[in-house]
Amino acid sequence: MSNPQLSKRASTLKPSITVALNNRAKAMKAAGVDVLGFAAGEPDFDTPQPIKDAAIKAINDGQTKYMPTLGDMKTRECIAEKLVRENGIQGLTGEHVGIGTGGKFSLYTAIQALIDPPAIGEDPWEMLLPTPAWVSYRPICELSGGVVREIPAGPESDFCITAKQLQDAISPRSRVLILNSPSNPCGTMYSEAQIRELGKVIHEAREIAPNLVVLTDEIYEKIVYGEHPHFSIGSIPEIADRVVTLNGMSKAYAMTGWRIGYAAMPGEFGKKLIKAMGTLQGQMTTNITSFNYPAIREALTNASVADTVEEMRLAFASRAKLIQSRLAEIPGITCPTPTGAFYVFPDVSSLFGKTTPKGTKITDAPSLSEAMLEEAHIAFVPGDDFGGCGGNHVRISFACSDEQINAGMDRFKTFVESLS
Ligand code: PMP
Ligand code: GLU
Repeated sequence: MSNPQLSKRASTLKPSITVALNNRAKAMKAAGVDVLGFAAGEPDFDTPQPIKDAAIKAINDGQTKYMPTLGDMKTRECIAEKLVRENGIQGLTGEHVGIGTGGKFSLYTAIQALIDPPAIGEDPWEMLLPTPAWVSYRPICELSGGVVREIPAGPESDFCITAKQLQDAISPRSRVLILNSPSNPCGTMYSEAQIRELGKVIHEAREIAPNLVVLTDEIYEKIVYGEHPHFSIGSIPEIADRVVTLNGMSKAYAMTGWRIGYAAMPGEFGKKLIKAMGTLQGQMTTNITSFNYPAIREALTNASVADTVEEMRLAFASRAKLIQSRLAEIPGITCPTPTGAFYVFPDVSSLFGKTTPKGTKITDAPSLSEAMLEEAHIAFVPGDDFGGCGGNHVRISFACSDEQINAGMDRFKTFVESLS
């Protein structure tokens, strides 16, 4: 008698390396190992108090029941107003905004609402993905039946693709273009001029790729500290009706555990897409936790929260400088200046082919990360699952104290110098 089998979908899906490594580092720490974790994609700060107070008040006031699937209109309108006011995305109302259980889930329902598996004899829909890119975009696309077409970028361009590269990648099967600035894992961002050039290509592609929609993941928009301010592609009027803006509360407001994300798109198609995402969500998770809605409004409108967000930004800016200067001391390690999010993504390929004092051969980024975790007790994320040139890199999150950055970079330097 044979045993029951899992679906192909579940058994072939690759686990998220960022989630897995972070959990592993935490488990080692809990078991008493002195691990310095640099794998976490989350701010080390606590959620600002007024946001917590708003949720606690909502619980005490009895806001503890089911709510409209995409969120109450007051909160959807509050997000629309934020996107108009801060991001310059015109023509948004509450109906153009849907709130889901984390940016990851809003991304999932957006892709499920846009990409179908191919009909027999048809080519699949393509998702254009500038790489290296966050690990979850590819699996989410593949779960919907689409295929990924990578547009590779490297450290020489701060991991930004060019307008020409985008133009060359677009075809009648292009369905979604992912943009993520500031970038996870690269820690770099596009300038307004670069985004406008990409926008021009999107505009000119209306004939050849009539179904192409830009999905711009702006979850790190508040964590910027280079020469370029954050710029939203959805604010370019000529293409605004083709742009879904994805964001959430996790990173800017240190609210990763609250699980709140949202998507917004103006125009008639925008309303239709958000409604379709709501239909999907209504069969999967329904509304987000009901007492989180007042907390969202508090985060987006309270001036003292904005001050706290600025303090966190300044802390990330100073840590970025610190980690960059510490990495520069390590022989053979290079990386572009971090300008956004809280990651650096150094090229570590000069270490491949070397051996650790315990005799472990370093052949690639995963074997390097494994040896560092086991032998030096530092957790970095190997870059392979981010795609493109990621296999030559590791991702280091600096959402941690200066002391930890200094201690971790000391260990990293000692480890590199010990290789033969
Ligand atoms: N996009 C990017 C680029 C991210 O790094 C993350 C972090 N996991 C998300 C989206 C989703 O975050 P969340 O689900 O916590 O909103
Ligand atoms: N986005 C974070 C990261 O990249 C959290 C983990 C995840 O969801 O991928 O580490």
